[in-house]
Amino acid sequence: MAELKSRILALSKKHAPEMIALRRKLHQRPEIALQEFETQKIIAGKLRKVGCKVNTRIWKTAVVGLLTGKRGGKTIGIRSDMDALPVTEQTGYPFASKNAGRMHACGHDVHMATVWGAAKILSEIKNELPGSVKFIYQPSEEVHPGGAKSLIERGVLKRPDVSVMLGLHVDSTRKAGTIGVKDGPMMAQADDWTLEVVGRSGHGARPHETIDAVVVAASIVTALQNIASRQVNPLEPVVVSIGAINGGTATNIIADKVVLRGTARTLNPALTEKIPGMIEKIIAGVCNTYGARYILRYNRGYPVLFNSREINDIFRAVAVELFGRRSVVEIPQPSMGGEDFAYYAKEVPGAMIRLGVGNKKIGADKPWHHPAFKADERAIPFGAAILARAAIMAMG
Ligand code: MN
Repeated sequence: MAELKSRILALSKKHAPEMIALRRKLHQRPEIALQEFETQKIIAGKLRKVGCKVNTRIWKTAVVGLLTGKRGGKTIGIRSDMDALPVTEQTGYPFASKNAGRMHACGHDVHMATVWGAAKILSEIKNELPGSVKFIYQPSEEVHPGGAKSLIERGVLKRPDVSVMLGLHVDSTRKAGTIGVKDGPMMAQADDWTLEVVGRSGHGARPHETIDAVVVAASIVTALQNIASRQVNPLEPVVVSIGAINGGTATNIIADKVVLRGTARTLNPALTEKIPGMIEKIIAGVCNTYGARYILRYNRGYPVLFNSREINDIFRAVAVELFGRRSVVEIPQPSMGGEDFAYYAKEVPGAMIRLGVGNKKIGADKPWHHPAFKADERAIPFGAAILARAAIMAMG
């Protein structure tokens, strides 16, 4: 065990420059969801170089690399997302985005490099691996319905069967050299919905002959607050928000149509089931009161991400073994954000860690999706060592 520890640490150090170079190359070539064509080529090439059997035909721009160790051993899956965002970069990096209006502002470049780093480390001790590792590079995490569900439907967890899934996401609120771990629910069910309120237009001077969609919409906005404030147990997390509202054309015309777009987020599956009905009941009641009609389109988002405690314990153990006690930080509360890694964790025991990339001195303190989002690259070999060691431990 002590020998494995020092070998993994040495390999992560030795190959750190190549991991970081890969991150910078990817950072410079950001591609948004389902357009990760160049990204796919780069990753496929890098995985082949470390001896993986590579599949680029499973689904759209995905890449799956299989590193085969001992036959008959378990297969561990490690997932990285691949997509960038429609953001114009303002980091000032010398390797800033060359694709106008596109940026790796959520750190998926760091994920790809870190997971490849784990592949590189594991490839150098391949003959001693008690099992195999499947590196799953998944397109479209940022855009619903996401890539995870489609990849699972296409059999990404089969042939050979994956028995454990490992994942990571960068976090600039945590220092580089630490991981955040959370058992159980970590990310929310994040649904979105679009509501069209349909009234009857008319002259602004004769409101009594109209059904004012603006007034109806305003009442709906107010009434929906009732869900979080009065209908759901205050100890239960819930978000119901309207992010966009559009309607009307002029001061003297009563609007006949207003479109509202909102999100609904929950952590408890029982509440997840009920929330669309609760929202619609309020909308229907208000519209009925004013004599308006409505069209509601409710879209289910990614499910709640439940992290397996058993798999988290592997992450805790290997981080402490490799980098000491202070490298592991328990995350006290879940996030109301969504993450399609949740689909894998529904199929097999899985856990996603937060990889600290924060470092105020180099400006790596901006939130996700910020145009100046940066990462402390020391997190890359650190995360690669943890993923590699965790995969071995998960093989049992
Ligand atoms: Mn992300």
